[in-house]
Amino acid sequence: MTDFDADVLVVGGGLAGMAAAISIARAGFDTIHIAPEAPPDRRTSALMGPSVDFLRQAGLIGEPAAIGHALTHIRIIDATGRLIRAPETLFSAAEADLPAFGWNFANIRLLDQFRDVARTLTNLETRNLGVTALSGDTVTLTDGSRLSAPLIVGADGKGSLVRGAAGLAMRETRFSQAALVCDLDLARPIGGTSVEFHYPNGPFTLVPAGGNRANLVWIDERATLDAARAGGPDTLLALFAEKSQRLFGAITLASPAFVFPLSVLSVPRAGDRGVVLVGEAAHAFPPIGAQGLNLGLRDVADLAATLAATPRGGADWGERVSRDYADRRAADLARTGGIVDALFRSLLADMLPAQMLRAGGLWALRLAPPLRRRAFALGMGQR
Ligand SMILES: Cc1cc2nc3c(=O)[nH]c(=O)nc-3n(C[C@H](O)[C@H](O)[C@H](O)COP(=O)(O)OP(=O)(O)OC[C@H]3O[C@@H](n4cnc5c(N)ncnc54)[C@H](O)[C@@H]3O)c2cc1C
Repeated sequence: MTDFDADVLVVGGGLAGMAAAISIARAGFDTIHIAPEAPPDRRTSALMGPSVDFLRQAGLIGEPAAIGHALTHIRIIDATGRLIRAPETLFSAAEADLPAFGWNFANIRLLDQFRDVARTLTNLETRNLGVTALSGDTVTLTDGSRLSAPLIVGADGKGSLVRGAAGLAMRETRFSQAALVCDLDLARPIGGTSVEFHYPNGPFTLVPAGGNRANLVWIDERATLDAARAGGPDTLLALFAEKSQRLFGAITLASPAFVFPLSVLSVPRAGDRGVVLVGEAAHAFPPIGAQGLNLGLRDVADLAATLAATPRGGADWGERVSRDYADRRAADLARTGGIVDALFRSLLADMLPAQMLRAGGLWALRLAPPLRRRAFALGMGQR
């Protein structure tokens, strides 16, 4: 692979791109990471046990407790006011013989941690530039320079330039709902319990962030969220008290609020002709069931496994890796995308059959331990 600038180019400096660049360099490939400066990522990520195990094994983080907060329980409260409602349900990690379902991390803390690791790798070079074009095995950067490699990893998010330029098909359905996120301090803390209130327009979820702090993810109509934000702190706090059914005492804002548009995006194949897609370049969903980055980290794990299984060398090395990676990812992407999409639509459905199914499903989960264990395994992405 001597005619190229590197063995692998990774495009995109979000969490999926950072994790991919580090894992690929750790596997011994000369890697150039093309990662332009981006605004701080204000989201938080609940990562399930298998994702956290992967991060530790790949040397991306040390002890999760040093930068994250354990999720030991999940409480679901049906606040839809519909005719057929689900029972209030509390899931405990102890039922699955686990100390925690996973951990909640601030994305900026994970990114800082990944950057520290990247700096220790001599075969990983970072360029703080964007990509403006891709043709075959060559990308053009924002300063007009070009780089080429037999394998190009598109980790450039939902609007991926790499995906479009490589001719990889995608399908996206945009929702009228969006997600408002911010940090809150609660007079009555939630400990390790993630609390989800299910409203007709989407869930209102408080995720443990240590001490009195919780990260809020509120899904609702975009217009409702924009109006709430425009109303200022007093309007927001009054809405938060009402939506959380005043269960947590006085609430104070610990950060500004940010709103993210929501869509479902999927690709029929996550790689071809020497280009592979990881993270939101390949899949995006509404943040329910905490699947997005968990799935992105499984992309990275499968890419590392594909690289390990593909003999190096030969003119078609990149092409073989991209094809095998797409094959390896197909089932997980289809299954996870299908589950999250169905769950989101069932939460929003006005149709009685869908409400019955959802409520019936939660009753079944509440009453049947084997079903609960199966649901835990699915939710945690166990394969
Ligand atoms: C409100 C909310 C809450 C969420 N909560 C969870 C959760 O609890 N658990 C979970 O698993 N997931 C969660 N997710 C999903 C998770 O945040 C995403 O899946 C993950 O952060 C996506 O990372 P990424 O690196 O693929 O994409 P991004 O973070 O979008 O990064 C893409 C990067 O590519 C760069 N880029 C774009 N174009 C170019 C270009 N032309 N050249 C070079 N670089 C480029 C951008 O600057 C950016 O840095 C949540 C999402 C939202 C919206």
